[in-house]
Amino acid sequence: GGFQSMGLSHVVFKGVMKKGYKLPTPIQRKTIPIIVDGRDVVAMARTGSGKTAAFLIPMFEKLKAHSSQSGARALILSPTRELAVQTHKFVKELGRFTDLKTALVLGGDRLFEMGFHEQLQEIIRRLPSSRQTMLFSATLPKLLVEFARAGLTDPILIRL
Ligand code: AMP
Repeated sequence: GGFQSMGLSHVVFKGVMKKGYKLPTPIQRKTIPIIVDGRDVVAMARTGSGKTAAFLIPMFEKLKAHSSQSGARALILSPTRELAVQTHKFVKELGRFTDLKTALVLGGDRLFEMGFHEQLQEIIRRLPSSRQTMLFSATLPKLLVEFARAGLTDPILIRL
């Protein structure tokens, strides 16, 4: 049940080892194979559960598998500036052995608050219709459920 048995490619596995992770956390054990398999996922997991790596590891794996595509190939939306900065740092650390280029784009205010619903819908409208979408959150308030309905296709729900 370790990372070795997940069939990760060498560059992704090296990033995991460099972070010092010995075993996948419960959320990682559940989400990594499903995301690598190509499914949309809604995952509810607390901060500290290893949820960032739970979507970054399979994201790297998918990007590696389709590396001939050009342009922006993955978008991570974070609800706060702090989380965006933290997640970008994580992306650079975990993905250091891949040849992916990353950029951090910051806005001023919190996502999923008053008025941001429309902006979120606008972002979704501009995404390719053929895509894989994952939603990771500690809670699932009404607004997020609406987002999941609009933005995800036949998602697998994972609760811990
Ligand atoms: P998160 O839930 O994404 O905020 O992660 C919480 C902390 O757990 C971070 O410091 C991660 O680097 C760490 N972490 C994530 N996955 C693992 C793992 N498989 N083994 C040990 N630590 C981990």
